[in-house]
Formats: sequence, structure tokens, C-alpha cells
Amino acid sequence: MSPIRTVFAGAKGRMGAALLPGLARTDDIEIVAQVDVGDDLVATARAARAEVVIDFTVPSVAVANARRILDAGCHGVIGTTGFTESDLVDLDARARTAKRALLIAPNFALGVLLMVRFAAEASRWFQRSEIVELHHDGKLDAPSGTALRTAQAMGAAGSGGGPTVGDAAARGAVHAGVHIHSVRIPGFTATQEVMFGQPGEVLTIRHDAFSRECYLPGVVMGVRAVRGKTGLLRGLESILPPPS
Ligand code: NAD
Repeated sequence: MSPIRTVFAGAKGRMGAALLPGLARTDDIEIVAQVDVGDDLVATARAARAEVVIDFTVPSVAVANARRILDAGCHGVIGTTGFTESDLVDLDARARTAKRALLIAPNFALGVLLMVRFAAEASRWFQRSEIVELHHDGKLDAPSGTALRTAQAMGAAGSGGGPTVGDAAARGAVHAGVHIHSVRIPGFTATQEVMFGQPGEVLTIRHDAFSRECYLPGVVMGVRAVRGKTGLLRGLESILPPPS
């Protein structure tokens, strides 16, 4: 089997620096081109005869790059955050028309996938919960895409809420009924705590990403999974077996 010809977009960024060495060590994925701001993604991917584009760029270009990936005739493995629900619906339609797949995942860490599953399960039993997410100060979006995804899963399972006393800003953003508090200071990579409370007890589920290498296994799985699929694949969970 020849390796999967893959372009990396956002190669000069933090995620590019963290993922490219690991991708180079895989036997079945070949990085045939790297692009960053100012490069022509469509022309580069076509010239390199790429099948897959990995995208870790910036939220402001996320949608345009996803369309460019399809225009180039490629599948996408997209970690860039900043997609709205209407963006995702539109990209699903475009991907189906193009007969290509776009895996868009706000978090490629396997530990985060499990955190979201555990939080959804706990939400069935604890009606009150809040999220605190802590990231480095270079992160452009807040709340994080992971916090939004977690809140969505928790809200759907019935948890969230909380008093809106005092200064509303001090109570955080509210998504799917769940309060989310975002911290941005140097030193952190990515940490999230999901707290569930009821009288007399608090359950905390915490995930720490200490280095960006934690995203590599999920990205590799994504590149291997997208070929042969069509449409939008939402989150890493869409390519992994369901919970037993
Ligand atoms: P970064 O700012 O360090 O790097 C982004 C890179 O994209 C830069 O080199 C920039 O020049 C480049 N870029 C900007 N516009 C471009 C364009 N049009 N075409 C090609 N390249 C372009 O950011 P980062 O820390 O590497 O994070 C990248 C994205 O990935 C962010 O949205 C971040 O939130 C997200 N992220 C996702 C995950 C995940 O698991 N899904 C994990 C970490 C970060």
C-alpha cells in the first residue's frame, strides 16, 4: 500500500511544530507539502497529488480553508476551531456533493473524548454542573471548542444551570445551559475541569494536555479514516467505536 499523500496547513504554527515530526515517523502517511499563510492551498494540494489535508490554522480562515480542501479534491482532517453550526451544515452539504469527507474535531486527544463521554454520563445523575477551561494566552477563541462540545453533550443529557447572581460576566459564558469559565495565562497548554455538584458532594472530571503530542494519535487515526467516506464527520467520536 502506498502511503497517504497528505498536506499540512498551518505548518509554521504550534500544532504544526508538534505534529509534523510524529507524522513523519508513520509508515503509511507521507507529508507531501506544507503550507502556511500566503501559500495557495488548492494549487499546492493539486500539484502534490494529495488525498488528505490536515488543517491546524486560525479560526478566521477555518471555513475558507475547509472549502479549499474540497476544491482541491481532498479529504480534510481539521483541528482548527471556530466553526458555527451553520458552517458545519453547509460544509456537510459541500462535502457530500464533492464526495469527500471532512473530519472536524475540536479536540483530537483521546483523553478529552473520554472526558466528554464521562461528563455526559454524569450529567444524567447531577443536575448542576459548570466547566472551567484553562489555556495558554495565545489561544484566540474563548470558550474553547472543547468546552462548547462538552457543554453541548452535558446539556443534551440534562445537566447545567446555576444562579445568575452578582455580575453576570463573573458567572462565565453560558452554552447549552452550562456555565463555562475561560482562563488564558502563559504556562498552561490545555486543561479542562468539569464539576458536578449536589448537596454534600462534588464530582470533578479533569483532563490536562501537558504537550501537544497528545493530539498526534487522534490526527493519525483521522487521516487513516477519512478516505472512502463522504460528508461531515463530527468530532473524533465519529470515527471511533461507540461506548460499550
Ligand atoms: P498557531 O497560531 O500557532 O498556528 C496557526 C498557523 O496557521 C500559523 O503558522 C499561521 O501563520 C497559519 N495560518 C494562518 N492563516 C493561514 C492560511 N490561510 N493558510 C495556511 N496557514 C495559515 O495556532 P496553533 O496553536 O497551532 O493552533 C491552530 C488551531 O488549532 C487553532 O484554531 C487552535 O485552537 C486549534 N487546536 C486544535 C486542537 C485539536 O485537537 N483540534 C488542539 C490544539 C489547537
